[in-house]
Amino acid sequence: MLLALPLAVAVWAFGGFAAKRERSNADQELVRNLNSSGSVYDGLFRDARRNANTLARSRRVARAFTRNDTRTLRAIETAHPWIVLVPGKLGGLHGREPLAGFEVVGRRGTIGRVFVVPRFDQDLVGLISDRAGLPSDRLGFLLGSRLVRENGVGRVGAPPEFLRPTDLRMGAVEYRAVAQSLVPPRDAPALITLRKRSEIAAAANDVRWRVIGIGLGLIGAILVTAYAVAPAIARGRLSRQQRDQAERVLASLGDGVFVVDRDGVVRLWNQAAETITGLRAADVRGRRAEDAIPGWTTISTFVPVADRPGEGDGGSSSETVPVDVAGRELWLSIVAVALDDDTVYAFRDATYARRLENLRSDFVTTISHELRTPLASLHGAAMTLREHELPAQTQDDLLEMIAEQSNRLANLVEEILVVGQLDSGSLHVVADTFEPEELVRGVVTVARSRVGEETTIEVGTNSVLPQVHGDAERTRQVLLNLLDNAIKYSPSGGRIEVELAAVEDRLRFSVHDQGLGIPVGEQERIFDKFYRLDPDQRRGIGGTGLGLYICRELVRSMHGRIWVESEPGQGTTFAFELPAEPVPAAA
Ligand code: ADP
Repeated sequence: MLLALPLAVAVWAFGGFAAKRERSNADQELVRNLNSSGSVYDGLFRDARRNANTLARSRRVARAFTRNDTRTLRAIETAHPWIVLVPGKLGGLHGREPLAGFEVVGRRGTIGRVFVVPRFDQDLVGLISDRAGLPSDRLGFLLGSRLVRENGVGRVGAPPEFLRPTDLRMGAVEYRAVAQSLVPPRDAPALITLRKRSEIAAAANDVRWRVIGIGLGLIGAILVTAYAVAPAIARGRLSRQQRDQAERVLASLGDGVFVVDRDGVVRLWNQAAETITGLRAADVRGRRAEDAIPGWTTISTFVPVADRPGEGDGGSSSETVPVDVAGRELWLSIVAVALDDDTVYAFRDATYARRLENLRSDFVTTISHELRTPLASLHGAAMTLREHELPAQTQDDLLEMIAEQSNRLANLVEEILVVGQLDSGSLHVVADTFEPEELVRGVVTVARSRVGEETTIEVGTNSVLPQVHGDAERTRQVLLNLLDNAIKYSPSGGRIEVELAAVEDRLRFSVHDQGLGIPVGEQERIFDKFYRLDPDQRRGIGGTGLGLYICRELVRSMHGRIWVESEPGQGTTFAFELPAEPVPAAA
């Protein structure tokens, strides 16, 4: 509507302009008509002149003059409208000015004259109009205020200016006219083309209304079209806005969202879905879910599709399913809702929660297993002691076994306690200094008491060792653990060496064994909580997977570092360094 008003004004103005142009076209047409009539008049004049020349030399005319044969002379004049034949040497035209004149010469000089004198009458106007192709009332001769036209003679108000379209009044009728004087002769009239003003105005008006009609029609059509399509445009814009907003919301969501249509093709894959799975939307969208989404078979089999959000058996319909993306196992907690013909899936990464869950159940399994063995031994020994009369040696052996197994249980409980303290950040580490060699020899003595003859434990040291900054008790715990592992994972015995070396401002403790060794790919992970190379204890070597985790955390808490070097079948070296006093240079 806002557009229609200025458009209508424009159409109106354009209509006025078209009418004005039509009027100026009419003026131009008058000038054109005048020009073509002028040319016709010139042509007639040339013909008449040529005729006059020919007649002046014709013998018939000469004879008629000589004999003063008036009849023949009049007959010739009638046959040639512009020709006037005047006998005698000095014959004149009695005031009429000829366009041209030729002498007719006899034996005794001039015997007469042939003049070219046009007759500016209605016939001539008709002839010129005809030849110029003009309608009969558009041309005339203007003699003063007398206007001679083919269909009559009239009087004009004021004579027009020459060669310029002007208004002209004749009686009650107004004309538009252009005039041009015809020279010579001096008294010749002006040639004038004219047209009724009312006709021109009618034509201009006609054009104006045609233009306005077409323009308004067009505006109407535009309005009708706009009216018809406006709701669709508005709806389109609204739905585009809604779609943009939904896309922004989906993109900023922390949950992965994807949509699979009725044909099993993925239609949407949001930003979080990209981030969680590492699969780019461009690689997934538009492809079949089974080709694009790893683990799709599991998802479609196990994840129930609810009819409405929040619906599902038992309140929650989410399923946690494993998905293998580029060799990485992801656990996704997924819910699915049917939406028209599509299914909307929302998921979050449950891998971490799953790992925690696994750790918890591993812990329970391992600890139960580790507790059961010593408890069974203790129970067996106690029952045997109570129910049987036993030789003194056997009693001693059983008591020793009870002491050893209860010690193992105590160690286990200690390990669990330390892990608890490490996790809660409440483990206490003393900042002190200690003599490393003394500490190592003490630990080795204890370890030696536990090994059979097939195993030897040696200590190797630099001659001078600095004092170490750290907690002696925690360091002993670490060393004992490493020595325990060296013994445990060398089932056929061998040589175990504990080496001490000062390295710049640190002291390095290394425990070498010739046991099973550790594959390179596992060397990082053995320091993880509960991680064991042989979780099912196929080699019959028990453990909780907590020892190395505790070692690493204790060493770190004393500002040191721990690492492993090993080759399967060749043996293993665990080493850790703690801050130490600088070695005295001259010692
Ligand atoms: P565990 O209670 O199982 O001994 P640890 O944390 O002490 O737990 O050790 C983790 C895993 O590292 C062990 O299960 C074992 O597979 C491996 N490991 C540790 N020390 C050695 C070693 N000296 N030689 C070979 N394997 C070892």
